[in-house]
Amino acid sequence: MITSQEYKKRLMKLRRNVYMDGQLISRDDPRLEGAANCIAKTYDVMSDPDFKDYEDILTATSHLTGKKISRFCHIHQSITDLLAKQKATRLVSHQVGGCIQRCMGIDSTNANSVASWEADQKYGTEYNKRFLNWLRDFQENDRSACCAQTDVKGNRPQRPGEQLDPDVYVHRVETLSDGIVIRGAKVHNSNSSVVEWIPVIPTRRLVEDEKDWAVSCMVPADDPNVKLVVSATRFGGHKDLGQPGPYGTADSLTVFDNVFVPWEHVFLNGEYDIGGRLALLFALYHRHSYTGCKPAMTDVLMGAVALMAECNGIEGKSHVQERLADMICTSELCYGTGIAAGINGTRSGSGTFIPDIVFCNASRRHAGMNIYHEFDALADVAGGMPATLPLEGDWLSEETKKFVEKYMTRNPKVSAEDQHRAFRWVQDISCSEFAGVSQYAGVHGGGSPRMEQIAILNSYDVERVKNIAKRLAGIPVKEKYTFDRLGKMPVK
Ligand SMILES: Cc1cc2nc3c(=O)[nH]c(=O)nc-3n(C[C@H](O)[C@H](O)[C@H](O)COP(=O)(O)OP(=O)(O)OC[C@H]3O[C@@H](n4cnc5c(N)ncnc54)[C@H](O)[C@@H]3O)c2cc1C
Repeated sequence: MITSQEYKKRLMKLRRNVYMDGQLISRDDPRLEGAANCIAKTYDVMSDPDFKDYEDILTATSHLTGKKISRFCHIHQSITDLLAKQKATRLVSHQVGGCIQRCMGIDSTNANSVASWEADQKYGTEYNKRFLNWLRDFQENDRSACCAQTDVKGNRPQRPGEQLDPDVYVHRVETLSDGIVIRGAKVHNSNSSVVEWIPVIPTRRLVEDEKDWAVSCMVPADDPNVKLVVSATRFGGHKDLGQPGPYGTADSLTVFDNVFVPWEHVFLNGEYDIGGRLALLFALYHRHSYTGCKPAMTDVLMGAVALMAECNGIEGKSHVQERLADMICTSELCYGTGIAAGINGTRSGSGTFIPDIVFCNASRRHAGMNIYHEFDALADVAGGMPATLPLEGDWLSEETKKFVEKYMTRNPKVSAEDQHRAFRWVQDISCSEFAGVSQYAGVHGGGSPRMEQIAILNSYDVERVKNIAKRLAGIPVKEKYTFDRLGKMPVK
């Protein structure tokens, strides 16, 4: 396993292809620092003595080499692995105050491990062998990846094959003797500018005449024909206040401008049915990761509510208690459902474990529908101060410090410095550019609540529960009673 310094050193070796606000920038641009620091933390915790007790969840044994590797490079071999990934995600999210920015890579990697194997069984291809060769290097060298799934999609109601411009869904434009050429663009692509690999996978189910869009491949993040048009936000890192970070996000419009992908990095090429399956598998693994990070996000916001209550001297008040109880229920219901998704997981033909589809989607949907309520709770308990807090320099300048401290202090048990720290941090996480991105990410990242609704209803046997009602109503039912719901991802 590598250190965070080595991770950052590798980023600096990548070719410049990151654009921000009209300029070609270097990967050490301070605006990318927030996202890079989150990923760096996933490396730091591996060797940090403070996290020694969590070694069994942060590391894993590679099923390929038998060596100890980072959990964030592992292919889940058991229910225990699924639970460990969920815990590791919550643990690191607590350290960075939100998204760990490394889950997309491991989720797409697990999804590819299943889909490439299934394609081989059905079509006699050798995608899984290629994928495992790539994976060996990924694990051995502790590499980082994102996931480019969401296509720009053009006119929403039209399928990929019906769009005026075929490039609005990334597709194969040429098949050569040594590989394929792809063109198009993905959007909302988190961390593409601070990782080494960009896995490209389909967004949705595909039909037979959409084979060109059924592509799964691995593209180096600095490929000469890839352009990353990035927007980024960050928070924290106020050194005078002793805060960790900065931590943040960096998302891109990722343009694939006729990118050549050699066969060794192509894991699907036209198998439209498996392309759709891969899209759903990634979404499922990613929503499973959310059962770790979303509870952590609620923990962070809940901690902020409790801290604001302390600063304001209103800790025991009934509205504060009610808000805290609501938040505990949100975080632990999402987490508990994630645990259930792991326990109810199944082994796919490839050997990779797949979490339960209904539990994962129910957890993610519940989190997505509650995110604005959580920010509402924080604003309620904090009062208006995060919006109009005097600027940092005014807390530190000799001329204004004594007035700011005197008039900003509330609960006498909390020092003026700590009041400042608390309100500055709450401003950062709830009343800033970063906060706005977090809120949208809370609704849409990993799939919108609407998509989770579709996933749940497509896999849930509503007839089974209707039959329960019919029996109780005295209406004859032919089907035999079954206690268990269906709704697992089918195993092939
Ligand atoms: C902060 C953030 C980070 C993200 N990171 C990643 C990432 O790293 N990788 C990645 O691949 N994706 C990522 N996503 C993408 C995320 O999965 C999508 O935002 C989500 O799937 C919704 O897609 P969209 O944003 O294109 O919304 P849209 O598709 O534009 O949806 C807008 C509205 O139109 C509706 N709609 C869309 N299509 C139809 C239709 N055919 N019929 C009826 N209604 C329709 C939707 O339900 C919604 O109400 C990220 C998103 C965010 C916000």
